[in-house]
Amino acid sequence: MYNVPTNFINEQKIWDVLNAHKTADAIQVREVIAKATEMKGLNLDDVAILTGVSDPELIKELFDSANQIKDTIYGKRLVLFAPLYISNLCANECLYCAFRATNKGILRNVLSQKQIAREVEILINQGHKRVLMVAGESYPNQGFQYVLDSIKTIYKVKTEHGEIRRVNVNIAPLKTEEFKLLKYEGIGTYQIFQETYHRETYNKVHLGGKKKDYNWRAWSLHRAMEAGIDDVGIGVLFGLFDYRYEILAMMQHINELEEKFGVGPHTISVPRLEPATGSDLASHPPFAVSDIQFRKLVAILRLAVPYTGIIMSTRETAKMRRETFALGVSQISAGSRTNPGGYEGETKDDVSGQFSLGDHRSLDEVIRDVVSMGHVPSFCTACYRLGRTGQDFMDLAKPGDIKLHCGPNALSSFMEYLQNYASPATQKVGKQLIKDSINDMNGLAKQRAEKLVKRVEAGKDDVYC
Ligand code: SAM
Ligand code: SF4
Repeated sequence: MYNVPTNFINEQKIWDVLNAHKTADAIQVREVIAKATEMKGLNLDDVAILTGVSDPELIKELFDSANQIKDTIYGKRLVLFAPLYISNLCANECLYCAFRATNKGILRNVLSQKQIAREVEILINQGHKRVLMVAGESYPNQGFQYVLDSIKTIYKVKTEHGEIRRVNVNIAPLKTEEFKLLKYEGIGTYQIFQETYHRETYNKVHLGGKKKDYNWRAWSLHRAMEAGIDDVGIGVLFGLFDYRYEILAMMQHINELEEKFGVGPHTISVPRLEPATGSDLASHPPFAVSDIQFRKLVAILRLAVPYTGIIMSTRETAKMRRETFALGVSQISAGSRTNPGGYEGETKDDVSGQFSLGDHRSLDEVIRDVVSMGHVPSFCTACYRLGRTGQDFMDLAKPGDIKLHCGPNALSSFMEYLQNYASPATQKVGKQLIKDSINDMNGLAKQRAEKLVKRVEAGKDDVYC
């Protein structure tokens, strides 16, 4: 049992460190980049030094290094998932979000269990194996039980070839006892974004409801981990405050979790503010992050926490998503809708969605694009199902070990996708990529990949090691 956490976000320290490294000295920057190639992570000073980089040549070196680290640890894999919005009811007043309580500009919609099952069926038939269940912070009459029932429903749906094999969750912070119930339902990652770690800004943009309480949110991952949820995800809503401050604050959060629980977050999300119905703030981000700053921040995170997954959602355009794959992104969503019932098409994005999307392509189109860039789409859920979570996952997450598991599993899960769901055009390029990837492998990884892929070709689904 951990002690009630102290204020682990030390604002003064963040400013001191940022001020100390305002202009990055090329020698220092290169030293930090060299240190990062050891793949043991970076400290606050290192990260602050990198945030100060503006010289194009140094930025290029930073990007090259992020690319190299990504390739060494993750290879060419990119894990795919889809968000599943179950309700847009919300009691909070987050000024940037269309779901906020007083926004009359959207239609409210709470999916019944039957409607959730239908949405899941559609996602499964597109080929998805992982969903991120999302909801506003207000549940219908059943209260929190609605969330638990919804997870049960998602796992229960089976179609001819598939089922959802990992349900990750992004919902409002819970009490420890509630987190235990969430764990009991077999969730993968519990994900929550602090939005901004800057208290003054936080207070300004959260006007009502439980979300006003910064500490309740900041300490929610402590409660989740105390409840036994090993994989947790953090994030910042970029655009609300100075991105350099936010990265350093995120590092303090990561360090805190590592110190208290022996393991940091499983994933980091990097949403940028997108326009949202009824939100002036979302259309005019007070600290808009430019495209180059955005790519820089993804690269810095890759160097700073090499073993933590970075998630890129469809908030971003296809072009930006492509560019950040090379900088360290390891998970992407595809074919997303942010309006409950959006996959069935019963509601429209602009009348009940949370924010505007930048990438509207279908899963099949995204996959074909990803393949054309030489990346291997992965639908693997093996680690979580074999209990390789939290510290166990981090122990495994050493380049050599990952190659023995994740490489072969990515290929077999991708072959499963191609056989069961892909269009002929995607099948063609995808199968070629699998062949080429196996040719490039050697030793045990190659043997495993060949064996697993052959089993899938013979009609067996869900094979992994
Ligand atoms: N309601 C819960 C909460 O706020 O934590 C969980 C779900 S909320 C729908 C998921 C995330 O969407 C929020 O944490 C926020 O970062 C993001 N979001 C809200 N408005 C957004 C906007 N206009 N653009 C981009 N992301 C947004
Ligand atoms: Fe509600 Fe979450 Fe939107 Fe805030 S971000 S209004 S809590 S759904």
